[in-house]
Amino acid sequence: MYELQTPYYICDEVLLKKNLELLKKVQDESGAKIILALKGFAMWSTFELVSKYLQGCTASGYHEAKLAYEEFLKYNKAAEVHTYSPAFKESEIEKIAKISNHIVFNSPNQLKKFIWKVKEINPEIHVSLRINPEVSASPVDIYNPCGIYSRLGTTLKNFDEDMLKHLDGLNFHALCEQDAEALESVLVAFEENFSKYFQHLKYINFGGGHHITKKGYNVEKLIVLIKRFKEKYNLDVYLEPGEAVGWEVGDLVTSVLDIFENGMQVAILDTSAEAHMPDTLAMPYRPEIQNAAAAGEKKFTYRLGGNTCLAGDIIGDYSFENPLQVGDRLVIQDQIHYTFVKNTTFNGIALPSLVIKRANAEEELIKKFDYQHYKERLS
Ligand SMILES: *Cc1c(COP(=O)(O)O)cnc(C)c1O
Repeated sequence: MYELQTPYYICDEVLLKKNLELLKKVQDESGAKIILALKGFAMWSTFELVSKYLQGCTASGYHEAKLAYEEFLKYNKAAEVHTYSPAFKESEIEKIAKISNHIVFNSPNQLKKFIWKVKEINPEIHVSLRINPEVSASPVDIYNPCGIYSRLGTTLKNFDEDMLKHLDGLNFHALCEQDAEALESVLVAFEENFSKYFQHLKYINFGGGHHITKKGYNVEKLIVLIKRFKEKYNLDVYLEPGEAVGWEVGDLVTSVLDIFENGMQVAILDTSAEAHMPDTLAMPYRPEIQNAAAAGEKKFTYRLGGNTCLAGDIIGDYSFENPLQVGDRLVIQDQIHYTFVKNTTFNGIALPSLVIKRANAEEELIKKFDYQHYKERLS
């Protein structure tokens, strides 16, 4: 008998710690500060651990900033909250200024609109502007912040030098799941266009998208790039990865609910690509499943689908050594980053539970969701 009911995400503390140790090595050897992008990984029950390694969080608005303030600073008083938003709202800016150490504006308009209010509320706050370096090697348009007509960041053409007196730093975020070579090419363009302003600044934030914890990532090159930059310009450097923190630290465990034949074998799972693993449809990509292979590779092939009424709620076609049975459990791998942060209760489908696998292998149920969570979002 299984103790835990499916579906659930299970985050393995040992694997998370391994990622954090590598990120700490990058900090120690390069001198950069690394903060967690909550957008990609916000399992705050792990923040006691994460806060031992990383210097704070980057938030995409008031709610994430508040979560960092409440749940990260609790363990590390010196941790920093950096808050960026494509556009801040009048009704939230004061609350954000109060709990943020850094505020990052997206446009000169926003900076001019809010700078005085922000400084009045929090005179210590560091102020930055997000730059659009207009270079990105992002693999797909939906994740390319420098694409045509991008709304993310200020281009050189729109940069207003009047802002410099307010700025402590500049931010850019131009990568997605990329290696140090991609960072290098963004840096070339960024330095060419913006280094003339560096003398006014204290730091540059290199954003996220650095796939540091992926096997094969050129960590040494990243360290060299950061050290060179820091020495050349005498500026502090921040990185703010999300995915690299939660990369390959756990799975989504699901059960087979039904199997039938309709031109091929179809299996329905108690999870959903649309609601629980949205990047499989948005990116799109095919997640790995434990003990499964590509269609036709092993003896028994199935189309695995979710338990919603969306026709396209399909995880993919997978083959198995033995026939699947109703009640079998499938372990969909690497489903911790950009999953539960994006979950929906579409179709009223239950949100998967959150489980942490402790260092002693014990699987601890952290949170279970029920009907109330679905109802509360509606009226
Ligand atoms: C999404 C995002 C990040 C984190 O990106 P990852 O790909 O998860 O590392 C960092 N900074 C900004 C501004 C972002 O939008």
